[in-house]
Amino acid sequence: MTANSIPSLYVHVPFCASICSYCDFSRQVYNAETADRWLDAMERELHARADGLKPETIYIGGGTPSCLPLFQLDRLLTLLDPYTEEVKEYTVECNPELRDRRVIECLASHRVNRISIGLQTADPSLLKTCGRRHDAADVKRLVDQFSACGISNISLDLMYGLPEQTMEQLEQSIAFALSCQPRHLSLYSLTIEPNSVFGKKGVQSCDADLEADMYECICSILREHGYLHYEISNFALPGYESRHNTNTWEYRNFLGIGYGAWGMEDHCRYTHADTLRNYLKDPLYRNVTELTEQERMFEAVMMGLRLRSGISLQRFSELFGTTPETCYPNTVRTLRERGLLAETDDRLFCTEQGWPLLNSLLVEFMEEAQL
Ligand code: SF4
Repeated sequence: MTANSIPSLYVHVPFCASICSYCDFSRQVYNAETADRWLDAMERELHARADGLKPETIYIGGGTPSCLPLFQLDRLLTLLDPYTEEVKEYTVECNPELRDRRVIECLASHRVNRISIGLQTADPSLLKTCGRRHDAADVKRLVDQFSACGISNISLDLMYGLPEQTMEQLEQSIAFALSCQPRHLSLYSLTIEPNSVFGKKGVQSCDADLEADMYECICSILREHGYLHYEISNFALPGYESRHNTNTWEYRNFLGIGYGAWGMEDHCRYTHADTLRNYLKDPLYRNVTELTEQERMFEAVMMGLRLRSGISLQRFSELFGTTPETCYPNTVRTLRERGLLAETDDRLFCTEQGWPLLNSLLVEFMEEAQL
């Protein structure tokens, strides 16, 4: 596959100003000298892997891209400039602590047109519990600063199921998020990862029933306010659905650059070196997993059913020359009979009743595929 046929580029920044209690991502506390060496390595990887790349979306995530000081962020964005010619959506994740107006102007000057901000919760005590250093007012200020620089396509991340979080705290956080008028909202329930601070302290997961009630509460409030529930954990005002993530849910290839990034090309998934130190030594190393056709079909179903609109049968046919119903005849038939799946001429999708049960539906697909 040539780089110019890959529609999306993901770049991972593995640095943060501090480490949140729930996090086990590939990141470490920012260090200027390591970040310089990481930028050298990124430059090498981009030159080797992205020749001719003309993606329609770029997403810089992390980590915290906005923890890079101006000169390093500018260098990163300058390295990516050659790939922005046909970009429609260019997203950078920012933490609410970002205050430097020059950084915001720098992002805008490099054609960044979408910002994802980690609000998580508006409650001060829960923010403290999570090890977050910002408050809700920082988020509002940052949204206003970006708007003033011409970037009004803002997405907010919101977490639920936090330790001892009440329904009232959640409702207040949703109300606060709405007051910032984001175009897009992503929801995350807290998962206690063994390697996170929470995991090491033995913090328990939220009660499953309360977590389900919280999810329902968020969904109904956001729908009332005109947000489309277009993916199981994502909401957008009409026209502001994430193109980058939709490419992933539609099972399209993407190039992943940087330690901590994974990518998908030529029927293979790959990650990079297992530590930042090893990445700096060999940024071109890829740990490649070749997927069988059965595995790829299951992944396409798993990703596609996350979308409200479901799986495009035309796209599935382009990828595999067949239909989901031919691959999983018993599962598709019985789930349809139970009112959990439905189909139009071009799409297979979960019904309102089936969508919240997606994980158990996928188990049935998996069992039929004998994966
Ligand atoms: S949650 Fe985000 S900001 Fe917090 S440590 Fe993890 S990557 Fe960094």
